[in-house]
Amino acid sequence: MLTVFCSPSRYTQGCNSTLSLGREMATMGLAGPALIVAGKTAIALLSDTWRRSFEDAGLAYQVYRFGGECSLAEIECVTRHARDQRTRVIVGAGGGKVLDTARAAAADLGLPVVNCPTVASSDAPCSALSVIYTDDGAFLQYRIYGRNPDLVLVDTQVIAQSPPRLLVAGMGDALATWFEAKTCVEGNVKNMRGGASSQSALALAELCYRILLRDGVAALSALRNRVPTPALERLVEANTLLSGLGFESSGLAAAHAVHNGLTAVPETHAYFHGEKVAYGLLVQLILEKKPQPLVEEVLDFAAKVGLPTTLAAIGLAEMTGETLGRIAERSTAEGETMHHEPFAVEPRMVAEAILAADALGREWTRKHGIPAAG
Ligand SMILES: [Zn+2]
Repeated sequence: MLTVFCSPSRYTQGCNSTLSLGREMATMGLAGPALIVAGKTAIALLSDTWRRSFEDAGLAYQVYRFGGECSLAEIECVTRHARDQRTRVIVGAGGGKVLDTARAAAADLGLPVVNCPTVASSDAPCSALSVIYTDDGAFLQYRIYGRNPDLVLVDTQVIAQSPPRLLVAGMGDALATWFEAKTCVEGNVKNMRGGASSQSALALAELCYRILLRDGVAALSALRNRVPTPALERLVEANTLLSGLGFESSGLAAAHAVHNGLTAVPETHAYFHGEKVAYGLLVQLILEKKPQPLVEEVLDFAAKVGLPTTLAAIGLAEMTGETLGRIAERSTAEGETMHHEPFAVEPRMVAEAILAADALGREWTRKHGIPAAG
């Protein structure tokens, strides 16, 4: 098996970096007209800056307002719009679903894509895949592309204005990266690009985990004060770049499979990807019978930043056997990353581990007097 490492062609991060968006694109040879696919917050915050930045770089552009879900219908809508406008580059600006939609449309049209996340809520921005949902928000499929985004530009002044819960969700997604990467590497599982994992990818995944533990709490408090401090800069890099490179070039395992299982029940739809992944990570650590001190390190971090550690914290206070069964079945469906675990995983084992994680989380919360996440 060949070793494959993949990443965006360029990653640019910093306070007010949107001012340099046009210039960064021009430097890379990306020419207009550009279609900016944007959520409503991005439009409100950045419209003036886009005008200045694109004018300075001599790039024509149009803004398309995102419809709210990364669904097949929305992707088709963006694709049609881009074709009508003779678009030569697609820029996604907003949360994960906006970026996933922009990337899917760009791939369908064979166009370069630029991702400008306005939140650090997941590791999607750097990746060459989209998560497609149904129109009512259930996980449908991963779509994997031949190339990563041409440019990922992160404006930490914008991130600093985002809701704290979204940064925390990003930490949940990033928290699982190293554990899933290690499982894949130890099991010699192919990464998302069909190759073996490199030492670089595993090292970046570990760095991601270390930055979370070191800077997570301080970064969250910086964001609450709306100031892009050095701790927030490092944390944003961990959530966005390191987690992205780590998962894509090393692989996913049980944590994300449990996430996908959780999306199969409507009770969890109000919770973010990273919140469900964080719970999925607890399930993974239990399935893998990891040593108690390690589980406690993860629990302690999750509780400190307000990531869910109980079923109640992801909308499942009243869990019926039927609901649990559906989650466990979906988590272990054929083709799921659950099967990257080094042992056969049956739905029954997942169901038991989901309940065990809840018991552990409730005990931890009670012992440490931590208020429920949310
Ligand atoms: Zn994820």
